[in-house]
Amino acid sequence: MPELPEVETTKRGIEPFLVGATIAGVVVRNKHLRWPAQVPQALAGQPITRVGRRAKYILITTPIGTLIVHLGMSGSLRLVDAQAPVKTHDHIDLQLSSGHCLRYNDPRRFGSFHFHTSDPAEHWLLTDLGPEPLSNNFSGEHLFQQSRRRRIAVKSHIMDSKIVVGVGNIYAAEALFSAGIRPTVQACRVTRVGYDRLASQISRILARAIQVGGTTLRDFVGSDGQPGYFRQSLNVYGRAGEPCRVCASLLKGMVLGQRSTVYCPKCQKTSGWR
Ligand SMILES: [Zn+2]
Repeated sequence: MPELPEVETTKRGIEPFLVGATIAGVVVRNKHLRWPAQVPQALAGQPITRVGRRAKYILITTPIGTLIVHLGMSGSLRLVDAQAPVKTHDHIDLQLSSGHCLRYNDPRRFGSFHFHTSDPAEHWLLTDLGPEPLSNNFSGEHLFQQSRRRRIAVKSHIMDSKIVVGVGNIYAAEALFSAGIRPTVQACRVTRVGYDRLASQISRILARAIQVGGTTLRDFVGSDGQPGYFRQSLNVYGRAGEPCRVCASLLKGMVLGQRSTVYCPKCQKTSGWR
């Protein structure tokens, strides 16, 4: 599933080709995505003024409104030549005046296209979202304040998009390891110092993943290569039963909030203070 770094990589990859280009035509071959795709024909003739991202949504703005695109489980947006042959699962095209075409492919069709004519921040998909993890609005203080009455596991707390967006399962597990906090500790029991450390690890790990994703940009644009994860640098995710890279204890796997999680029983003992 594309996570925040892959979505940011996609956004950065397509942005230079889209901003300033005019949409020459719209082709919807299959609108049956998670919700019926909203890609109005009226977009033809409209210039693209901005490409943005909010959480895992890519925002493509024109003077008449904004397309709010989610890649779902298996979606991808690629820039192809307007003449490129259509493949299976190529559901939506935005043809550009430049001769390029922004093509949406999604085998499992859990992605979505919404069209919103006013400020996208007010769209129902986006109104309840917490701060961006790489913005100034995100901090240990924020995580701490939002956790005081929450008895859920700290891992579930940081994966809640109302608290902070874009912290997927991999990044939550890795940030908790780097912060030395056990994933199962109740959110309300993690200390302020613990949340400071956790917030800075979340930002660091996501920033690094975006950086690594960025190295695949050249493969990504104009081909069908998907942005890669940063698997080579994972400390705990997917490593249950293997030795901890810090203390050599065997990493423990478990299921928490219906998601698999892995932690080091020795390095992640505490609720924040060590
Ligand atoms: Zn360890």
